[in-house]
Amino acid sequence: MKLKAFMPGMILDELADAVGGYDNVSMEMSDRATYGVDYFWLSRMWQDRGEVPPMPDWIVRPGATEEVSKILKIANYYKIPLHTWGGGSGSQGGALPMSGGILMDMKRMCKLIEIDEISRTITAEAGMIFQQLEWYANEKGYSCQHIPSCLTCGTIGGALAHRGIGIMSGKYGKIDDQCLSMEVVLSNGDIINTLPVPKHAAGPDLNQIFIGSEGTLGVITKATFKLFEQPEERRFHAFLFPDKNSGYMAGRDIMQKVKPSILRFYDEAETTSIIKKIIGFEKKGCFMNLAVEGIKRIVDIEMEIILEIAEKWGAEDLGSDYGEKWFKNRITFFYPGHIMDIPQMFGTMDTVATYANVEKIYLAMKKAIYDKYGDKVRYISHSSHWYEWGCMNYTRFIVDPPNVPQDPEEARRLHNEIWNIGVRAAMANGGVINDHHGIGLKLSRLMKEQYGPAMQVMEALKNQLDPNGIMNPYKLGL
Ligand SMILES: Cc1cc2nc3c(=O)[nH]c(=O)nc-3n(C[C@H](O)[C@H](O)[C@H](O)COP(=O)(O)OP(=O)(O)OC[C@H]3O[C@@H](n4cnc5c(N)ncnc54)[C@H](O)[C@@H]3O)c2cc1C
Repeated sequence: MKLKAFMPGMILDELADAVGGYDNVSMEMSDRATYGVDYFWLSRMWQDRGEVPPMPDWIVRPGATEEVSKILKIANYYKIPLHTWGGGSGSQGGALPMSGGILMDMKRMCKLIEIDEISRTITAEAGMIFQQLEWYANEKGYSCQHIPSCLTCGTIGGALAHRGIGIMSGKYGKIDDQCLSMEVVLSNGDIINTLPVPKHAAGPDLNQIFIGSEGTLGVITKATFKLFEQPEERRFHAFLFPDKNSGYMAGRDIMQKVKPSILRFYDEAETTSIIKKIIGFEKKGCFMNLAVEGIKRIVDIEMEIILEIAEKWGAEDLGSDYGEKWFKNRITFFYPGHIMDIPQMFGTMDTVATYANVEKIYLAMKKAIYDKYGDKVRYISHSSHWYEWGCMNYTRFIVDPPNVPQDPEEARRLHNEIWNIGVRAAMANGGVINDHHGIGLKLSRLMKEQYGPAMQVMEALKNQLDPNGIMNPYKLGL
């Protein structure tokens, strides 16, 4: 079906003019429907039940920063909502065009701009899929070491906008540690740059205003990242801990003394379900696998220290095979048959906290959910990103058929209720509302509860940078 109304057509012509022709704009219903679903369970359920998805009115695909600037000027003039779309792999409904308007798909902006081998940095356009950036780095013998499970489907812009993280975070950091500088287009079309390096005393770091801002404050068009030498050696080891507490404490001691690139610690429920299924591990207990990497001589010493710490906390030494097997299968976890999928209802309630709170949160969320739903809801959890002061819990709830309502309204109500119960239990015990998937539409309503009066700082930024409120409305509590 074609929309032929007069004014939408006029705006389509302006957008086409901004991006050099009609090949990169669309008002076709089939294109519009494509952008009504990302990896947010509710959007997928809505589509599964045959309901009409949220749809943009116009789709536009810019090929350069100047084109993004022109598009924003058009959106700002007409006060049309503008939603930036990267890979559409987000799990929070962050890119969904909830209020129609313009959807700007960034994937044409995928050029490598520079590899600076002296400074060890790489710069590219923000619509590039992260795997492509990693391949460019690999060609020169380096790695960005941002290796999330969405490596092949998420863009640079999406990773920055949701403050993402990869499996190597223990040694190489989160995306906000890895990004040096960015080019951003503001809602009025102005093109700005953050400072060339992030460590300075010239005021607050502008990177950290736009990283995590989910397309609500500006559009990221270019970014520069650190490059790392490939490690001389990557060595794996796995352990079985008797309970959650001993594993958390061992993880803390390890992070205080050495920096494993990978550190993953599973509760018994996940050990006996997913870990068992994928790497064939049969025993009861809490599985931990880790990797240390870098110069071989240092790896030897780091591994020695880790073995001492694990023994101190009563872990059974499982050797290196399971860790290697886990690494080889790290994407298999997301394949059909292993990953949860519709007709199940599920969600990842990732939260991050200090070591004093992280186990309390694990137990409080579990209790809150089991008290309300009994065995109708399953609860599994692991911790995959660790710091000197605390770690995150990657906690998932799963509802299996026939307990998943078929009626879309009822399904939505149950989904949102479970999220409210889980996330509020985390916040009540010192947890942060989200670790690395972002807020999007899914958690938007809980942002004011998380921040309290501090939310006005973000609202002031939003009002100043986007006075017409066009940038990705209803996301991030803004
Ligand atoms: C199987 C699977 C595994 C995953 N594993 C991980 C993981 O290991 N680590 C992790 O962090 N996440 C993971 N995710 C979540 C998701 O893939 C990430 O959040 C990813 O970074 C989103 O990128 P995207 O390009 O798909 O963004 P989209 O979903 O398209 O958009 C996400 C948000 O970013 C905004 N945005 C996109 N591009 C820009 C831009 N250029 N400027 C400003 N705003 C922009 C959008 O408006 C939206 O708010 C996983 C998801 C799946 C489906």
